Amino acid sequence: MSYKIELHCHTNPVSGCSNIRGQDLVRCYAQAGYAAVHITDHFTSSFFDGQEFTDYLYGYHAAKKEGDKIGVKVYLGAELRYDGCANDYLLFGVTEEFLAGAKELLHHTYPEIFAYCRKNGVLIYQAHPFRDGMTETPPEMLDGVEGYNMHPHHRSRNEKAIAYAKEHGLNYLSGSDAHSKEMVGRGGIISDILPNDSKELRDLILSGKYELYHEGELL
Ligand SMILES: [Zn+2]
Ligand SMILES: [Zn+2]
Repeated sequence: MSYKIELHCHTNPVSGCSNIRGQDLVRCYAQAGYAAVHITDHFTSSFFDGQEFTDYLYGYHAAKKEGDKIGVKVYLGAELRYDGCANDYLLFGVTEEFLAGAKELLHHTYPEIFAYCRKNGVLIYQAHPFRDGMTETPPEMLDGVEGYNMHPHHRSRNEKAIAYAKEHGLNYLSGSDAHSKEMVGRGGIISDILPNDSKELRDLILSGKYELYHEGELL
């Protein structure tokens, strides 16, 4: 038995740029043959301007509730952007407590955020590192990069991201970066192992026991 797992997707309204609710996103992934979905809503200071920490978890909980009903695993993740930098970072292995702490670090520096991830066993991958406006992160302060970002409306330069990962001995992953029904199911990983939660997803990534899934050409 092999399982397809989405690593990068966004729910409305937590991610203002997404037009699909958590529960609908999970149903779309089930239809597309996925067994699991890692919810990576945008985690930024601007989100928390006027919103509570628990509001951030809304999309995850909506997705999880539906996933429990229809048999799709749903994992808590995040796509972090800290103040004063336009880079995005996917986090694997987070808990609610971890994110509550990370919220306080959004106005700190990247090395502090990286140290906090390390201390808590959370993996940090730079998302679409060669999209316009991105800057290089010191490779020794990354667990890897998103080699295949399958967002159809951005030039992510995936071939450059993969070459960069290989050059620096970094792992690389694949994700759809879905923000709508139409963008569901273009990336992810395929594994014989189906993690039960975010920590087990992190362990699977560390184990390397998966293959990358990506649909269509390199963008
Ligand atoms: Zn977005
Ligand atoms: Zn994203």
